[in-house]
Amino acid sequence: MPGCRLPYLRPLTALACGALALGCTVPSRTSSAAEAPVATVPVPPPVPPVRPDALKPPAVAEPAPAAPAAPGKGSGADGVVEQGKPEMPTPPPVPPGRPAELSGPGALALKVVPPDDTACRIRLKRLGAEFEELSPIAEGQCTAPLPLKVTKLADGIALPQGATLTCRAAEALARWVTEAQVEAERVLKHPLTGLELGGTYVCRGQNHDIDAKLSEHAFANAIDVMGFAFGGRASMPVKVFPEQSDEAQFLGSVRSKACGFFRTVLGPGTNAAHANHLHLDERERTAGHRLCE
Ligand SMILES: [Zn+2]
Repeated sequence: MPGCRLPYLRPLTALACGALALGCTVPSRTSSAAEAPVATVPVPPPVPPVRPDALKPPAVAEPAPAAPAAPGKGSGADGVVEQGKPEMPTPPPVPPGRPAELSGPGALALKVVPPDDTACRIRLKRLGAEFEELSPIAEGQCTAPLPLKVTKLADGIALPQGATLTCRAAEALARWVTEAQVEAERVLKHPLTGLELGGTYVCRGQNHDIDAKLSEHAFANAIDVMGFAFGGRASMPVKVFPEQSDEAQFLGSVRSKACGFFRTVLGPGTNAAHANHLHLDERERTAGHRLCE
């Protein structure tokens, strides 16, 4: 292969010669006839082009320096901020303690202040009644805060079994029997000496129905009179007697007078549940309404 001489290409590198596939050599400055060895020029590595700005990754924001702690928070007693010290976690709020009177079985005890029965008891004594005070009654919804056990009424009329009553019901009974005493002597010509009671305080619903509204008996506010006892003649049960008989006249008279002392009066003819007794109670109704049947 014949060589070539390209003196005007001296500045070119050997790489250029190779790329041109000329198979030439770069002549030395001091070219001479003698072929001198040619020194190769080292080629710097290619430098990549500069990356356009549009292709540069977004700059990562520097984390903001921590703000200094607010005065008074995280600082010592002298106001110097204590850096690097973790805050103590705030405990959850604790509810206030339950008052002792609202805890335990005592919380369910009767808290209603009972009415003052002092004047009623004075009147009951002046009517000639004998009675004693009982402990408050509290059986579920059946209550009587100031019950009395009455054993005798005016004119010595006895209540052999005793009657557990509120003072109000006992006073109504005592006043009513004074009227019954007058009727016994007027109609039957024999003195009234006692009442046969079927029940006073009983914790039950009306007409013994457990699903019914509570009876006034559940509040010691009612009396069931089963019969009358007299001096010198046989006792009289409460029932339907032949018309025009002394018994029918006596029963009709005392039943009618009971409506002047009790708010509720029921008996034979009212319904089957009252065919054999007089039911007397002091149930309060709106506008003072009374039930006299
Ligand atoms: Zn009754």
